[in-house]
Amino acid sequence: MLNFPKANSIYIHIPFCSSKCAYCDFYSVKYTKKRVDQYWDALFLELAELAAITDQKLLQSIYIGGGTPSLIKAEKYFSLLNKIRQYFKLVPDAEITIEVNPASITAEKLIIYRRAGINRLSVGIQSLNDKYLSLLGRKSNRQHNLEKLTLINRFFNNYSTDLIFAIPGQTLAEFKKDLNDLLKFEPPHISLYNLELHPGTKLYQQYQADKLEMPTEELDAEMYDLAAAELKKAAYNHYEISNYARQGYRARHNFIYWLYQPYLAAGPGAVSFNGNYRFQNKADLKNYLLYYGTANSENILEQSIQTKKPTRNSASEFQVRQLEKLTAKEKQAEFAFLALRTERGILLNEFQKRFKQDFKKVYQAEINSLKANQLIKEANNRIYLTNRGKKLANEVFIKFLP
Ligand code: SF4
Repeated sequence: MLNFPKANSIYIHIPFCSSKCAYCDFYSVKYTKKRVDQYWDALFLELAELAAITDQKLLQSIYIGGGTPSLIKAEKYFSLLNKIRQYFKLVPDAEITIEVNPASITAEKLIIYRRAGINRLSVGIQSLNDKYLSLLGRKSNRQHNLEKLTLINRFFNNYSTDLIFAIPGQTLAEFKKDLNDLLKFEPPHISLYNLELHPGTKLYQQYQADKLEMPTEELDAEMYDLAAAELKKAAYNHYEISNYARQGYRARHNFIYWLYQPYLAAGPGAVSFNGNYRFQNKADLKNYLLYYGTANSENILEQSIQTKKPTRNSASEFQVRQLEKLTAKEKQAEFAFLALRTERGILLNEFQKRFKQDFKKVYQAEINSLKANQLIKEANNRIYLTNRGKKLANEVFIKFLP
């Protein structure tokens, strides 16, 4: 296994859902209590391994995502977070986020999350319109979502809400209503995603069978512009292509990805990055449990930490992990398009410092073409997306690929 000189954050994947949403291609399996118990033991073993290969163990953030982390008994997060604290240090104001689904959240769970140290929620609202919640295959309805937002506002002042737009059949007026209804709750952070169809999902199959008509690119762009204008009026900062925050509520965890800093991740399907290598756990819970077993002997874990040896031999590691060594060109490209996602864009000095090369020389032709198409701008030693560039971001990012 590789080494991490440092890691700024850790992502924990909770791969359980009660059913599959019609648009979702994330890795998840059906929730059962037995599976969760086995998974917790395996997760602790992986955390020990990750700690053993990380030199500077100071985390800025922990993100518990899924799947549906809020399906699990809330008390489980005491043991998970205690285990992370046992192996890593956290900065005093570390951001600790959990993704929650309105269908499985209760006041009791929210209280327990807070007691466990979780200080931020990411709430999968997705829509406030019953027609589209049903089309998306969500477990919640509008009324339920509104009630849960009220509840969340009572217990958490730091939370994000996800909203999907450009849903088949959705009009601009319907999206505006969703957005305005959501804004009544004044969520400190909003993530807005246009619906993408991924192979293997129910919506994709319907689309392939001509049973679904996707919105036009023009309508998609109109919705994006509408959201940007409405949220600006409501004092949100559009700090990343898909993300808006009130002052002081940017997602610190995600910023680590956008700044191309090293990060750790645990669980099937989870991806870690140490600055040179990316390694991804295979998205296969059974394989993961087989690899780690269900033993949770503290002796094995402590030995792993002290000797800096993984608890499994490296020959079998590839049963569970895929390793990718990034070339210099790939790293430069990833750095560029991740930075371009943010409002501040690419800081030319930072690129120079990191890669010992001049960004404008490395990508001279690409920069000229993107500027000519009004997709990027340059000012004050940085290059960033124009409004047009934000809407056509994938076209911009492709330009940087080696
Ligand atoms: S709850 Fe989330 S992870 Fe689970 S199927 Fe739905 S969108 Fe996917």
